[in-house]
Amino acid sequence: MEKEKLIHLLNRIGEMLEILGENPFKSRSYYNGARIIEGITEDLKKITEEKRWNEYKGIGEGLAQKISEYIETGQIGYYDELHEKVPDEILEMLNIPGLGPKKISVLVKELEITSIRRLERACRENKLVGIKGFGEKTQENILKGIEYLKKTSDRHLFAVGLANAERLIDYLKKEKSVEKIEVAGSIRRRKETVKDIDILVQTREPGKVSKLFIEYPEVTEVIAHGPTKSSIRLKDGLNADLRVIKKDEFPFALHYFTGSKEHNIAMRSRSKDFGLKLNEYGLFTGNEEKIQCKSEEEIFRKLKLSYIPPELRENFGELDAAEKNKIPVLIEENDLKGIVHVHSTYSDGLNTIEEMAEQCLSLGYSYIVFCDHSKAAFYANGLNEERVLKQFEEIDKLNKKFKEKKFKIFKGIESDILPDGRLDFEDEFLDKFDLVVGSVHSSFKLSEEEMTARAIKAINNPFLTVLGHPTGRLLLSRDAYKINLESVIEAAGKQNVLIEINSNPHRLDLDWRYCRLAKDNGVKLMICPDAHATKGIADVKYGIGIARKGWLTEKDVMNTLPINEFEKFLKEHKKERLKK
Ligand SMILES: [Zn+2]
Ligand SMILES: [Zn+2]
Repeated sequence: MEKEKLIHLLNRIGEMLEILGENPFKSRSYYNGARIIEGITEDLKKITEEKRWNEYKGIGEGLAQKISEYIETGQIGYYDELHEKVPDEILEMLNIPGLGPKKISVLVKELEITSIRRLERACRENKLVGIKGFGEKTQENILKGIEYLKKTSDRHLFAVGLANAERLIDYLKKEKSVEKIEVAGSIRRRKETVKDIDILVQTREPGKVSKLFIEYPEVTEVIAHGPTKSSIRLKDGLNADLRVIKKDEFPFALHYFTGSKEHNIAMRSRSKDFGLKLNEYGLFTGNEEKIQCKSEEEIFRKLKLSYIPPELRENFGELDAAEKNKIPVLIEENDLKGIVHVHSTYSDGLNTIEEMAEQCLSLGYSYIVFCDHSKAAFYANGLNEERVLKQFEEIDKLNKKFKEKKFKIFKGIESDILPDGRLDFEDEFLDKFDLVVGSVHSSFKLSEEEMTARAIKAINNPFLTVLGHPTGRLLLSRDAYKINLESVIEAAGKQNVLIEINSNPHRLDLDWRYCRLAKDNGVKLMICPDAHATKGIADVKYGIGIARKGWLTEKDVMNTLPINEFEKFLKEHKKERLKK
């Protein structure tokens, strides 16, 4: 937590300096500092106490002072100083996709634009066109960005929602009278983005719990405060609702507030077919007699359904499946045996191969597949042939060391899919890898036809193992590029190419809505963290959530295979694809 805030403050200082029009070297040194801090695995306090910041290249004396100040006091005076000159209203403009601090600096200076509202008005009055570096296209994009922001501003990444919910629940559990506490809503259903946090609690002391709730240290505003329902706003921008539920109503409330709305409608309609009425308070017979249920399982059972896990409650056919007892046994976190698609310091990662591997080992995984960026990805320090071979050497060396721990590092690459659909290495070279992920990282603006053809051409390359983040979306900041996923999935099925579920909380791509289609086409999935630092490896838990929402089982995901079988799978998969 502390470290993340420090990184945020340093980046913000850099941005504020840019907005103020200061020397670019100055802001760059803060961005660099933030990046360096992100990669440090050692305790920051220790480095400060031992005055060892000078050991880190890129952290000069001034920066070291500010970092130390933060470690000692939790604040940076310089940040506050700048923040007085660059208030939140200006900083909020940074949330507009495609609008960086440099452009904002110009807008402030030339047009005195100091808020999103003013910016929107200026665009509509066509005022940006005349400024150097701007133009009609930029103005149009900024307007689009503002629209996008309005559309998504009340939504948050699942990871943010979950982290907030977990912290809040841990905090409320301090109150001894809490008998049961659950998060409901879209967080329990593991939706890729969430609106707010719904917490249900069963307690003997409703007053005490709701008082504790509104006194939560992360509250910025108390919206409502009552004995059975309270509502707060948190500093991360989400709202949280607390409902106090009676013991015999708890399972019904939990089911009701978990949703989705569409699932609830289907459930109510099914209850009606049985001559019953279902709502948040209970399940009732025609003459209002209450049918006791101690758990959600019992509610489903009373309606002649097998249990439907929360992730599936989207009215995507789950009632039909539950009626026929055909709800699959969904994949779980500990089914994953290895980590595929991570980056290292060879390209744009923050940790070395050894650090990443050690982290995987300590998390209990038995293999890791490095997929650093390839040579076309110059912006991400992509690897050319020579550097790939150097990386291979290091991997071979490390594998000798890891052998006794029954852990293995595999050689992979995230090869750029060029605009024409070729991968950016020759076939003979691609053959050297154990696994090839192919991803689109450029030319996002192709037509749907062109983009679909591009992906399918890559799929037809016999050296491609996995299609990476198939739509390129960045949740809440960049829409998916135009692509016909149905055709892409069909092609992947025919060519026996796997599709990635990219678990980065900003991506979660393949989308869960397409997982079943993939399965029906015989496509196997790979759940990948796309980690750029040791911390990111744990992101696979979000990918597991998406896979569960997509009805997937252990068998549908290939990195659930134990190490020996995984190795065999990669070899045979390559052989078979080359035969085709
Ligand atoms: Zn990528
Ligand atoms: Zn990647």
